Amino acid sequence: MSLKSARVSYPYGVRNSVYGKGYHEGIDLVSENRAIYAAVAGAVIKAAYAGGQGADPEGWGNYVILRTRNGNYDLIHAHLASVKVTRGQTVNEGAILGMMGRTGNTTGPHLHFEVRRAPWTNNNEINPAVFLGIENKEGPVKSVSANSSEEGKKVVQNIILCNPGPDERAAAYLADHLKAPVCYLANVTKEFIDCAEKVYVIGNDYQAAEKSINIIGADRYDTCQKVLDLCKAK
Ligand SMILES: [Zn+2]
Repeated sequence: MSLKSARVSYPYGVRNSVYGKGYHEGIDLVSENRAIYAAVAGAVIKAAYAGGQGADPEGWGNYVILRTRNGNYDLIHAHLASVKVTRGQTVNEGAILGMMGRTGNTTGPHLHFEVRRAPWTNNNEINPAVFLGIENKEGPVKSVSANSSEEGKKVVQNIILCNPGPDERAAAYLADHLKAPVCYLANVTKEFIDCAEKVYVIGNDYQAAEKSINIIGADRYDTCQKVLDLCKAK
């Protein structure tokens, strides 16, 4: 599958206690074409098998980790039926990394895809939908990028930032309205903020960027109301 023309079966960030951080740290993708193509060029830093159910990488089954050419991000591809690359190999965008499968700790065949700031062992993931420039929503992959430039730098129109908790609901309304991805403030990087034309920050006064638009109410209900007002005004 090309990661940008697959189907999202389980979005990033869904709260679920089965995951180490209490939410889904990657995005699950499925596609009839089981070949998995590299989303960007990079170097294969890991191509291995991990069964079991412990800390990452345990449970990933056959997995491939691709480090982007700029060295900034590690892209994790888990549960592969088979691996078609070896450690140390450099690949171009579009190269086959492996075949979609159900190895490791999973209920059915899919690709579990994660993006972490390198090195991946620091467990500092970012929203993979933002990285790919796609909507973080179940269903056929929909692109949110107006256009894309070099690796890891997709130009998106809007990014919505918030902290986990009550403001996520307000963020979700705006996300629906703008067709924009939501990212937790703790996970966002300067590179991603730089990629967006507009950055909305929901529920706090964090200055994510010069251009950030902070929407803050007296309380969470008021914040939500302000977001709804903004949606209606547009
Ligand atoms: Zn997953």
